[in-house]
Amino acid sequence: MGMHPHPQRPAEVSVDSVLVDRLGRPLHSLRVSVTDRCNLRCNYCMPQEEYVWLPKQELLTFEEIARLVEVFTSLGVEDVRLTGGEPLLRRDLPRLVRMLAANPRIRDLALTTNGVLFAEQGEALREAGLHRVTLSMDTLQPARFAALAGRDTHAEVLAGIATAHRLGFPKLKLDTVVIRGVNDDELADLIEYGRDVQAEVRFIEYMDVGGATEWSLDKVFTRAEMLDRLGKRYGTITPLNENSSAPAERFRLPDGTVFGIIASTTTPFCRSCDRSRLTADGLWYLCLYAQAGIDLRQMLRAAVPAEEIAARISSVWRARADRGAELRAATGERGVLVGIEQLRQDPHLEMHTRGG
Ligand code: SAM
Repeated sequence: MGMHPHPQRPAEVSVDSVLVDRLGRPLHSLRVSVTDRCNLRCNYCMPQEEYVWLPKQELLTFEEIARLVEVFTSLGVEDVRLTGGEPLLRRDLPRLVRMLAANPRIRDLALTTNGVLFAEQGEALREAGLHRVTLSMDTLQPARFAALAGRDTHAEVLAGIATAHRLGFPKLKLDTVVIRGVNDDELADLIEYGRDVQAEVRFIEYMDVGGATEWSLDKVFTRAEMLDRLGKRYGTITPLNENSSAPAERFRLPDGTVFGIIASTTTPFCRSCDRSRLTADGLWYLCLYAQAGIDLRQMLRAAVPAEEIAARISSVWRARADRGAELRAATGERGVLVGIEQLRQDPHLEMHTRGG
């Protein structure tokens, strides 16, 4: 992209004039992938051992990430979530957290992690100013974990969750991808475990995003099935009916325990999606299902002024009409979204590259 011969006038977006896309959705939440690498090989996400990794020199430096986030927050972003790949594999992550925590426009600075390294790093992250953490937790059974994640590190994940609990991170969340015949018999066990560690469990429907090369519709344990199963076990389940842009619908059990369901596959929430994603190498994606991203790294490295980057971001956001999950849901014959050969040619199509 480089320098524009006729730079557009920088958009003057103040807090009062909310920048919205063509469906009226604000630019509110940014997920920043800090690495495409992961220390697990979950078979619903990145089951292969080797991938085409992003070249090191193309990764954004922490300074570059902080500068871009600054531009995004000047345009209305208030929620920033660090993700990956596995974000704790990025060396010295607390330094980035400290830089972002100094940005007063960020109201919610969160991290999504598989927890394997969280016992080691949690304290430094908390001290650096991380507000919240969401940990992935698909099974309480070590052997099942090893089969699902391709690594024997269940004990580390449990220790990571215990650390997050001990450090007193508020609004702790545990995310579970529910796959039929794999872990759909653990919903209640996970809810009980969540109660013990004072975390809210969120059940995610298995999605056919980039890396999910083993996906098929019959493996999707649906929101309706989850509610049915939990209703049989606990009795009446009450929806909380919140009016929010959060992906999870929340429910209450008769004893007051709250849990969430993220039904991206059967009940997509594109209409309220205010999320966009920045890859570790600085491509900006407007939708998890988008086939192409906007190269912001090139603008940064060509020393394009921040106002001009802001103008580009706002004009792209104003034109946004993406409804990827809804369009997928409307597809009749539904198989794997992206085949392994296509993924090999374009690593940006991977979920672990664009940040889940
Ligand atoms: N490594 C970190 C972790 O495990 O939380 C962050 C990245 S991971 C891609 C983010 C989230 O995406 C995880 O909770 C993971 O379970 C979820 N995820 C990955 N593939 C998925 C799929 N096919 N369907 C639904 N959720 C998926």
